[in-house]
Amino acid sequence: MIDYHLHVIAHGERPMTTENILEYCEVAKARGVRQMGITEHDRYLDEIDLAAFQEARELSHDVELRLGIEIDFVPGAEERMDHDASALPYDYVIGSVHRVDNEEVDRATDQRIYDRYETYDLYEAYYANVRKAALSGRFEILGHPDLIKIFRHFPDRDITPVLQETADAVAESGVVVDVNAAGLRKPVGEVYPGRNFLEMFYSRGVPIVLSSDAHAPDQVAAGYDTSLKLVHDVGYREVATFRNHERGSLPL
Ligand SMILES: [Zn+2]
Ligand SMILES: [Zn+2]
Repeated sequence: MIDYHLHVIAHGERPMTTENILEYCEVAKARGVRQMGITEHDRYLDEIDLAAFQEARELSHDVELRLGIEIDFVPGAEERMDHDASALPYDYVIGSVHRVDNEEVDRATDQRIYDRYETYDLYEAYYANVRKAALSGRFEILGHPDLIKIFRHFPDRDITPVLQETADAVAESGVVVDVNAAGLRKPVGEVYPGRNFLEMFYSRGVPIVLSSDAHAPDQVAAGYDTSLKLVHDVGYREVATFRNHERGSLPL
């Protein structure tokens, strides 16, 4: 089992020390995770302590550590994204869409963007960005691909064609999809991506990784009973892995 998208620094809650990383590893071990990838938000790039990571990687025997980064995908910010995506010796790079028109869609304390746009239009714009992120060729993994559902603002028209177009682009791009259990802790109460969307990826041969998007040690692999059942029901029998940007796989 793997947990390939999580945060130690999170939103500045704790420094990336060897001790803090090993605390995450302990939870990972207890929950059967064999590979754990630390993927801080790129805006905390300067706080990533590579020496602490490398020390933790040597000290952690039961859980193999990987280093990634979660790039906030914003069209027009290519220079920043390219810089952040190559700044450290990562094993893989996640690209995540958190924004429409450079405004965050997942900020619990400010959901005004959902009032300003017609919901269907907002979804369309969100998934257009997801397609751009996938097809940009910058990322090995596409983070939480239907984050826009987070607060349960659902469009009143069927978005299936938009999801299909997006799944087509993801399949064409070769990017791996992040099956991210964080949605279970949010108002939407389901895994990203939802079952229909995940089935579209599966039928197009798109590989997956599993993640918790933990922002605290007790969230490592949280929700995995639900996400494991989901991916298994849909048909997946393996997850992708990365080491030094080389893709491998592990059985589920
Ligand atoms: Zn994210
Ligand atoms: Zn994240």
